[in-house]
This record gives sequence, C-alpha cells and structure tokens, in this order.
Amino acid sequence: MPASLRFLVTGGAGFIGSAVTRRLIAETGHSVCVVDKLTYAGNLASLAPVAADPRFRFEKADIADGERMRAIFAEVDPDIVLHLAAESHVDRSIDGPSAFIDTNIVGSFVLLQEALRHWRGLAGERRARFRFHHVSTDEVFGSLGPDGLFDEATAYAPTSPYSASKAASDHLVRAWHHTYGLPTLITNCSNNYGPYHFPEKLIPLMIINGIEGKPLPIYGNGLNVRDWLYVEDHAEALLLVAQRGEPGETYAIGGQNELSNRDVVRAICTLLDGLRPDPAGPHERLITYVADRPGHDARYAIDAGKIGRELGWSPRRDFASGLRLTVEWYLAHRNWWGDIRSGVYRGERLGTAAVADLPGEQ
Ligand code: NAD
Repeated sequence: MPASLRFLVTGGAGFIGSAVTRRLIAETGHSVCVVDKLTYAGNLASLAPVAADPRFRFEKADIADGERMRAIFAEVDPDIVLHLAAESHVDRSIDGPSAFIDTNIVGSFVLLQEALRHWRGLAGERRARFRFHHVSTDEVFGSLGPDGLFDEATAYAPTSPYSASKAASDHLVRAWHHTYGLPTLITNCSNNYGPYHFPEKLIPLMIINGIEGKPLPIYGNGLNVRDWLYVEDHAEALLLVAQRGEPGETYAIGGQNELSNRDVVRAICTLLDGLRPDPAGPHERLITYVADRPGHDARYAIDAGKIGRELGWSPRRDFASGLRLTVEWYLAHRNWWGDIRSGVYRGERLGTAAVADLPGEQ
C-alpha cells in the first residue's frame, strides 16, 4: 500500500468516525475528507485536534444527496471509502424511524452508486486497490441467549428499527459486490465506548449524570449483556480491514468484554468514587431501575477469531483501563459535553415507543 492514500470518511464528525479520522491524521501520511451532515450526533469539536492539518478537509453534506456525493467523489478522488455515517441510536430509532431509513438505507444506496461510478472510472493499480468499507454493527444478528457468540456466519435477525436499517445496508453492500464487482468490505462490531461518545449513550450518560449527582437510570433489571470495545481499538481494526481485508469479506469485531449494564454502571460509580468523591455518598446510591426499552435485546457477544487469524488484530485495552481513561476524559472535557447537554440533548429519556413518527400523527 502506498504511504499516502486518500480516504473519504462518512460520518467522521461522530464518535467512531472522529476517532478514525484523528488516528489517520496523527499516525499515518494519508489524507482524509470527512463528509458529515452534522446531525445532533455530529460535532466538529471532535475533529478540532486535526482541523488545521493540510491533509484534512471537511464537507458538510448528506450522504443521501446524490449530486453532492458525485461532486465530492470527483473532487476527492478517493482510494478508500470508510462509510460510518448513520443514525446510530436504538432509542431514537424507536421514536423516529424515518431518519434511519433515509440515512442508513437510502444514504448507503446513494453512496454505493457513486462509489461504483467512481471505481469504474479508475484504471490499473488505483482500480485494484479501491475499497468501499461499510461499518456495521453486531445488532444485525439479533439477540443471543446465555451461550454462544456471533460470528461472520451468523444469520441476520435484526429486531429494532436501527438494526433492521443497518441489516438492509449490509445486504445492499453485499449485493453491490456480488452483482457489480465493487470491492467492498463489511465489519460488524460490538458496542464501543471511549472519549467523544455522545452523552445519550449508556456509558457517557452514566458518567455525566454521576458527575452532576443526577439519577443513573438503568433499563429493566440491568442484566442485558453487551460486549464492550474501546473505540481506539475499533478504529485500529477498521484501518487494518480497509487496507488489508479481502474484498467481499465480512469481519466481526469485538472486545471479549461481556458485561451486564448493571455491572458497567457499578464500575463507573466505583471509578467516580475514587476520582471525584461525592460528599453526599457513594455514587451507587444514584442508581434507579426504570421501565425497559421496548424489544430490548438480551445479549450480544462476538467471536472475533477471523480478524485475529487473518489480519492479526486483537483488542489492546481491557475494560478496566479503558473505562478509567474514559471517565478521566469526561472529567477533563466538561466543555465538550457541557455544550451538548445545554443544547441538543439534555439527558431526557428516549425510546419509550410512546411517540413514533407515523405520518399524520405529529
Ligand atoms: P454517531 O451517531 O456518533 O455518528 C454518526 C455520524 O454520522 C454523525 O457525525 C452524524 O452527523 C453523521 N450523519 C448522520 N446522518 C448523516 C447523513 N445523512 N449524511 C452524512 N452524515 C450523517 O455514530 P457512531 O457511534 O460513531 O457510529 C458510527 C458507525 O458505526 C455507524 O454506522 C454505526 O452503525 C456503527 N457502529 C457503531 C457502534 C457503537 O457502539 N457506537 C458499534 C458498531 C457499529
């Protein structure tokens, strides 16, 4: 691979996309164009560390806008498309599924078409090394019982509007490879955590509420299990797959870190007790159990053996040290989340299915 490739990163102002972009600029000689609509979840502050670099550029655009995408492909002339733009929050998909269809399905379709047009115009080595890498989730596989793991052969069984829309986009990507020969890659990853995570997701919400002495609401009995992966480990895996993965293949990525939501929140409380003791008492006193998310999947867990065997990747960070770094980051970056908490998301409960964006019902 040449030392200087052109990456087009969709959703690069989000949690994982910004980690990938910061890593590309800081640790490689590649250039990056981020395409992002800047929805509630997109935040240019997450790209501030690389904003002044001459190898970085930003385009505010909707991936479902075919004309803009065509113009951006023509200008950037990418070697690798890393497609992360998505509506990503299960709770929001319950309240308002339309945006998930528009971005995750229609947007991915538009991007595939423009990637195909671009790839067909390439020749020689550039055509041979072009990749379209679609970043997806383990939630497309549905829910596990107490045993077993998801891997690349697991049948699709999505249960939420979010996971169904991601499953649809995975199928489109496979079809564009099978039918048109587009050199695609798909990764299905477990739950990520780490710095720059939007405050409505479980881990940052609990850290911030804990810092502010607010209730720590756990859905249902708190025994739902997720396999947690530190976001920097995911970013490393994505760059490896994008550059060394086999076109047409899928790679499952996970943290080998299964924990119940209750144990995650307790671990956050213990860290906060040490790093920011609350004179009113231990943070665990703030835990409350609230009505469960409708259709809440019981357990997700990943067998990441294939990416380990074929590309030599395994997670570097264990959960204890990754969570400590994350809590320390939120304690030190109040400006980043304070702006969000006072503006686009104030900590309210989402995804109760009490509202839905049914036509004529708003
Ligand atoms: P995020 O919500 O933090 O970021 C999504 C980004 O996409 C935002 O910057 C948003 O502005 C942008 N975006 C949304 N709609 C757009 C559109 N129509 N056009 C252009 N940009 C648009 O999400 P994330 O957690 O960083 O997830 C990134 C990707 O990784 C998603 O595809 C998600 O499905 C997948 N994924 C996430 C996790 C996780 O735990 N967070 C795990 C596995 C896979």
